[in-house]
Amino acid sequence: MKTYKIACIPGDGIGKEVVPAGQTALDTLARKLGTFRFEFSSFDWGGDYYRQHGIMMPEDGLKDLRDKDAILFGSAGDPHIPDHITLWGLRLKICQGFDQYANVRPTRILPGIDAPLKRCRPEDLNWVIVRENSEGEYAGVGGRVHQGHPTEVATDVAMHTRTGVERIMRFAFGLARSRPRKLLTVVTKSNAQRHAMVMWDEIAVQISKEFPDVKWDKELVDAMTARMVNRPASIDTVVATNLHADVLSDLAAALAGSLGIAPTGNIDPERRYPSMFEPIHGSAFDIMGKGLANPIGTFWSCVMMLEHLGEQAAADKLMEVIESVTADPKLHTGDLGGQATTAQVTSAVCQRINGA
Ligand code: NAD
Ligand code: MN
Repeated sequence: MKTYKIACIPGDGIGKEVVPAGQTALDTLARKLGTFRFEFSSFDWGGDYYRQHGIMMPEDGLKDLRDKDAILFGSAGDPHIPDHITLWGLRLKICQGFDQYANVRPTRILPGIDAPLKRCRPEDLNWVIVRENSEGEYAGVGGRVHQGHPTEVATDVAMHTRTGVERIMRFAFGLARSRPRKLLTVVTKSNAQRHAMVMWDEIAVQISKEFPDVKWDKELVDAMTARMVNRPASIDTVVATNLHADVLSDLAAALAGSLGIAPTGNIDPERRYPSMFEPIHGSAFDIMGKGLANPIGTFWSCVMMLEHLGEQAAADKLMEVIESVTADPKLHTGDLGGQATTAQVTSAVCQRINGA
């Protein structure tokens, strides 16, 4: 029987609650279907590891992940450690080390979810945002000099390479083509960011010629926020830089009803390295340790993982179960206005996988 080796990195806060829930769902699904199995290895990296060792994960930790088929990640972020240390020391170390340059974020209004846009029907909002995940504003280029003096200078330089922009455009056009509407919106800011974003626009035109069957348009990032609210049905697939897409995808998650539902994949499209799947929410300090975290974002991330592994039937089954669970308000967690616990939602998902 086919065995998939999955690395589990719960990380911090509610990551430690939702990742085990994801493992339980995946295991239940594999047992029910009986055509493949999972071999999980868990890594205790994150804030607690940092308190013991002074680093978020071992220097050479990537070698332990290298031979896995995929990674299931929770969240990095600890109330007592600065966010740039937790983020760069763990999640970005993996994303960059494994060149997971395409961050894919599907957004839909699932059945039973009360989304904030009153004139938006569920079928009007079915998006996938592709975030450039390796460079741009988050490349880590920059520095701080003369700290504490009046002459202090700090820079974060947005770095965009032709190779990096071409590959994310090609990925996004390809993804748009694989969806029924074959429609891509390229988000830009070439009016104000007059060097890199102008190159970004030029490369979009160039790559679009490889995809004559994809309709595409261009939108400035600020106008895009308004379009997402006012004309959601005009959007299908979206591609944007690391920073722009970071902001747009949290807006997308909120418009779909809750941060607790939204999934993401950090993908190496060339499959040289394992890809990493995670809910988009963070450590949720306000509810951590209480068993109140919504595990749906993690379950949906597991669906993306199954698709990536080529297990489409299993992915479809899990998504169908997720939608049947969100449709029942008794199974809504606090972020959705309900009272269900992580454990209750997880066992409902497992029961429905087993056909009960
Ligand atoms: P957050 O996502 O942790 O929380 C924002 C709000 O949404 C909170 O009120 C929280 O309770 C709620 N929420 C989030 N996920 C939920 C879930 N699954 N179920 C129910 N409610 C949920 O964002 P934040 O407060 O900005 O960040 C907290 C920490 O997490 C910070 O250290 C931040 O750096 C980190 N963070 C990490 C990641 C990541 O690892 N990918 C992403 C975002 C934030
Ligand atoms: Mn973000």
